[in-house]
Formats: sequence, structure tokens, C-alpha cells
Amino acid sequence: MPEQYDVVVAGAGIAGLSLAALLSVEGRYSVLLLESGSAPGGRFRVIEREGYLLDWGVHACLLGSRGAISRVLRRCDSAIRILPAGMAVFRDGKLLPFVGESLISVAEQKVLGGVSLARFGSAALASRWKRSFDITVSGWLERNRSGEDLESVLKALSIGLLATDRYERASSGELFAFFRQVMRRGVAAGYPEGGWGPVLDALLEAVKRSSRCEVRLGTRLERVAVTDNRVEGVTAGGEDIEAGAVVCAFPPQLLAGEVSVDPPLPEEYRRRLSSLEESLGLCIEMGLSAPITKDRRIIFSVDPPALLWAVSNISPAIAPPGKQLLQFFSPLDHKRRGDKAFIEKRTDELITLAGEAYGGTPDEEFKRVMVTTIGAVVPFTGQSRPNRPAISVPGYDGLYIIGDGVNSRGLGGDLAARSAIQAERLLDGYLRGDTPVALGEVEPRGG
Ligand SMILES: Cc1cc2nc3c(=O)[nH]c(=O)nc-3n(C[C@H](O)[C@H](O)[C@H](O)COP(=O)(O)OP(=O)(O)OC[C@H]3O[C@@H](n4cnc5c(N)ncnc54)[C@H](O)[C@@H]3O)c2cc1C
Repeated sequence: MPEQYDVVVAGAGIAGLSLAALLSVEGRYSVLLLESGSAPGGRFRVIEREGYLLDWGVHACLLGSRGAISRVLRRCDSAIRILPAGMAVFRDGKLLPFVGESLISVAEQKVLGGVSLARFGSAALASRWKRSFDITVSGWLERNRSGEDLESVLKALSIGLLATDRYERASSGELFAFFRQVMRRGVAAGYPEGGWGPVLDALLEAVKRSSRCEVRLGTRLERVAVTDNRVEGVTAGGEDIEAGAVVCAFPPQLLAGEVSVDPPLPEEYRRRLSSLEESLGLCIEMGLSAPITKDRRIIFSVDPPALLWAVSNISPAIAPPGKQLLQFFSPLDHKRRGDKAFIEKRTDELITLAGEAYGGTPDEEFKRVMVTTIGAVVPFTGQSRPNRPAISVPGYDGLYIIGDGVNSRGLGGDLAARSAIQAERLLDGYLRGDTPVALGEVEPRGG
């Protein structure tokens, strides 16, 4: 006889782990969490090296203690604190404060002039309208005849928050929608006390505390079986398993190729999923034998296109005593993926930038350089929030997609966790049979 679960969640990244943890806390359903890799965490994995705890590249917790990850942790009774981090822009050789640690201090920000700040604020408020997502960063700058201050800020934020320097494609609505949330919540970003390792442990513990949730590592979801438009089960690791609902917590592109759905998803929908472009970046972690700065802010730069921070200043536990961990990120065009000379040049530029921004020469103990996928779906117009796939797969009752490629609100890990919170609600309705299958996100508004 095949095994039976109410819900199969495939993928133990931040989205799948969050959903499994939320479902486990209530214990209403039997849950099977599958992960094709040998360890949980997905793109949020952490490793130890020479006494440093290294994230998989820069990992700021967007919206900090007011974001979706914090919300999930609170539901799991975790006491982990997300410590706040401000934001600054490096321009003309100066570090200019932009967003403070606790709330936006309009008086203290030095990046935008008064008129530009007002324009930025009203664009953030207008970002609840769908059409703002279809305007590129370049288009918005042109339309608003913006000055140099707005241009540098929008470009820098596009690099650091959308992971792209393709301003002619990046969605300005995604940026403004993020700042609308910052204005409402009063926090822009943060970093977990003790690093991301304890966050992943807390989610796994919540899952393991439940007698109704099972985790299988090294087990890949291969096929989703559907009868009369309703999900009936899956094939995973060569085994057939009955399931009331299936949640794919991995990049949506995989549902168009690596994972089969039987009967197959409509050709047009599959084509749409497989055409979604991911973002690519150069990520550097650098251990310093002595601290170069006390700055706790996330620093954005346009030239070179970069984001950097001395992350161990926020959470000292992730570096050995008396040392410091710097993290750098720079967006890369896909055609640069194998271009060693370009990557070496950009690496040198980033390290020079750190020296200029912090006013010293970093004394490098070790360096990890990697080129990797950042976001499952880069927020270009045409694939920004309103155009990303909904959590409920249309026409397939009980089949859902979550993660940082769906049309929930937010960016990066915050979006992944928020989609899990929304999926929990959708699953509840579906499995109890008392609400129609909703299509996820209601915002942004049309028109
Ligand atoms: C270098 C880097 C820097 C980043 N910086 C930030 C940042 O500063 N702030 C931020 O918010 N976000 C950041 N992000 C993005 C953030 O990491 C992602 O948005 C988030 O981790 C996505 O989580 P996820 O659960 O949606 O997907 P993933 O983490 O990709 O998890 C998907 C999981 O599914 C598994 N899987 C795939 N196929 C199958 C299958 N068929 N069966 C079972 N399992 C399967 C995979 O092995 C993986 O573990 C960064 C990403 C990278 C790579």
C-alpha cells in the first residue's frame, strides 16, 4: 500500500521549511517534507570556515523584525532576534546615510534632496497599483526628469535589492513597493542574532517536535499525480506516495521541466514558467584578521555595482573574537558567468571599494569567491510581482508553488517566507473543503 500524507512539501529552503514548520506547530495535518539535497536550507545554507560562520553570500533579512521570517519564527515560539541594520549609499567618495536602524529618519538621510525625497515617497505610496510594476527604473527616472541624487539611489537600490544593474529592465514598482513596506513597518533590514544557522535550526526543530511531520533528505520530488484536476499523490525517490495536496517549494522553472505533472501542465503555462529569468551574482566573503570598521549598515554603490557590509558588526558570533567578516555582492550578467578575467577584475574593484568606504585596507585572512544564482525570478518588468505565477497552480486543485519566484509581496527570503504563510491559509481552506481555491495574493491593485 502506498503511504499517505495530507500535505507533501517538496524543497527545504526557507519557503518549504517555513511552511512545514507552520503546519507542524498546529499539527492539524500529516506532512512529508522532501529535500533533494543532503541538507536543509537551500540558498540559505550556512557553513563554518576557520571559525567564521559563512552564509551563502550576503543574506540581509529584509524588513528585519517586521518581516515574514520573523513572523514565522514567532509562530514557532522561537526567541531568535533579528537585529536591525541601516542602509547607506557610497557616492562621490562619501558614505551617505539613507535609512536608519529603527525607522526612516527623514532628517538624517543625506542621499536625496527635499524634492527628490518627496517624489520617492509618493512613488512608494503609489506602488500598490499594478501599473507601477510595469515601469522600469530607467523609464521612471526619465519620466520624472530626476536629478542625479534620485538616479544614483534608484540604481544603487536596484543593484542591492533587486540583484540587477539592468535598469532598463528592472521594475521600479518592486523597489517602491519594498519601501512602502519599510514606511509602514519602520524597519528596512536586519540580520539574525547568531547568524542564519539558528534560524534554520529553529524551523527544523519546530518540524521535528511534531509527530505528524516527517523529513526526508536526499529525496527528490519526481512526479505529481493528478486525477480529475485534483492532486492524488507524488512519486519521490522512486516511491509512490498518496497526498491530499502538494506544495512545490523550489524555483517555479523546475515545475516546467525537472518535475513532471501527470497529466501535464498546459503548454502555455509551462512555457511561461520556463521563460522566467533568474538573477546571477558575484558573492565574496572575506575574513579579516582585524576589524576595519564599526559600521553596521548595508552599503550600496553604483560604480562598481555592489552591496557590502561588515556583517559581524551586527552579529559578532559569526566571526572569531577580534576578527571581522565582510560580505560583498555584485550583480552579473549571465554571459559573464564563466568570464574569469572579468570576475577577478570585479573582485578587486569590490575590495578597493571596501577600503574606500571604510577608510582602510582590509587585512585579508581568507576569501571565498563564488558566482551563483541569487533570486529565482529577477524582478524585471514582465516578471515582477503581478506577472509571477500565483501560489495556486491554475486548473490543478491541491497543487501549489511557493518560494521567491511567486506573486506574493516582498523580495528574496522575505518573499519566500511570506508565500509560505499564504500557502498555509490556502491549504487550510482546501483541505477542509470549506473555501474556494483562492489564487494567492490580492495586491497589487489593478488599474
Ligand atoms: C548569494 C545569495 C545572496 C542572497 N542575498 C539575499 C539577501 O540579502 N536577502 C534576501 O532576502 N535574500 C537573499 N537571497 C535570496 C534568498 O536566498 C532566496 O530568496 C531564498 O533562499 C529562496 O528560498 P526558497 O525556499 O524559495 O528556495 P531555495 O532556497 O532555492 O530552496 C529550494 C529547495 O528545494 C530543493 N529542491 C529542488 N528541487 C527539488 C525537488 N524536485 N524535490 C525536492 N527538493 C527539491 C533544493 O535543493 C532547495 O533546497 C540571496 C541568495 C543568494 C544565492
